[in-house]
Amino acid sequence: MSRVIARPTQLDLDSPGRRDYWVALEHDSIWGDHLIPLTVWVGPEVRSGEGLVAFGSNHGNEYEGPCALKGLLHEINLEDVRGRIILVPVLNPSAFRAGTRESKPDDGVNLNRAFVDGAGVIPSLSGITHRIAAFVRNYIWPRVHVVLDLHSGGDVARFSPCASFHPVEDPELSATIEQTARWFGVPSVMIYQNATPGLLPSEAERLGKITVGTELGWGRSVNPEGVRYGRQGVLAAAIHQGQLKGQIEPIGYHLAGTQRKLEMVDRDCFTVAPFDGHYEPLLECGTAVSKGQVVGLLHDFDHIDMPPWPAVAGVDGVVLAQAWVAPVPRGQHIVVVGKLIS
Ligand SMILES: [Zn+2]
Repeated sequence: MSRVIARPTQLDLDSPGRRDYWVALEHDSIWGDHLIPLTVWVGPEVRSGEGLVAFGSNHGNEYEGPCALKGLLHEINLEDVRGRIILVPVLNPSAFRAGTRESKPDDGVNLNRAFVDGAGVIPSLSGITHRIAAFVRNYIWPRVHVVLDLHSGGDVARFSPCASFHPVEDPELSATIEQTARWFGVPSVMIYQNATPGLLPSEAERLGKITVGTELGWGRSVNPEGVRYGRQGVLAAAIHQGQLKGQIEPIGYHLAGTQRKLEMVDRDCFTVAPFDGHYEPLLECGTAVSKGQVVGLLHDFDHIDMPPWPAVAGVDGVVLAQAWVAPVPRGQHIVVVGKLIS
């Protein structure tokens, strides 16, 4: 396999065949480029405006997605591809190489907040991270109708693995999105608030694409179960949305019929740290809780004799996430409880 370094304008994402690229976007500081690995397979039934894209490393310290997609580069055979499949195991090489959530060595921007008006176009929004967003907008969005954005908790939160999406108005699209999420096999599918500006998945949803995000692990490690869920979700979506031949069987909680559907829209789902402290979880993520139940304790070691502050569940539901790194700043959501819908 030879991987070609190419400017975005030199990419061929449309002719039949498989092509492996390093997409070169100009470096902010040195004479050089940031190189984004991108592999495209185009089959005989490809349709204009349709295809599947899966991204890893939107954030640079989340590793299940990159591992799952890197593995699939060797698993997907061109002769099985019907439409168009684009895999980008590392969407943000600056953040990934630094092992940080944001593009720390360069512009310091969080790629999953960079999908804003003028990204990569107006001079104040032209650092590498906004230019990656612009690349996705200009070259990927016009060619896909399925968007999978594989995240994990990084340093922020430990998770019960989930596949997530925002509420969308079109009922048919909404049902397809939920099914696509369920096929990851994860313990929970999660509907979350859509108030955060600049998210990659929010833009894909606004464009009417079948869009699913995930949280497949945490702690800057690789959760083997998370990699398995990631691989499964991408293959299932590719097959069910007509881009790949073959059959696939459900796995995990999807197979067992024990998947939970959670909603995380209400502010009450989030328990906010009232002071800088150290967080001690008392329960595992994935535990069912009732409103007011103590999930963890926030300690103030400057007031060592003071009892800890009890972090309680704000709603009845399931503990979806908790702070991972023990020292937490005031204002962090240290407990997140999803409301059980079904
Ligand atoms: Zn992330």
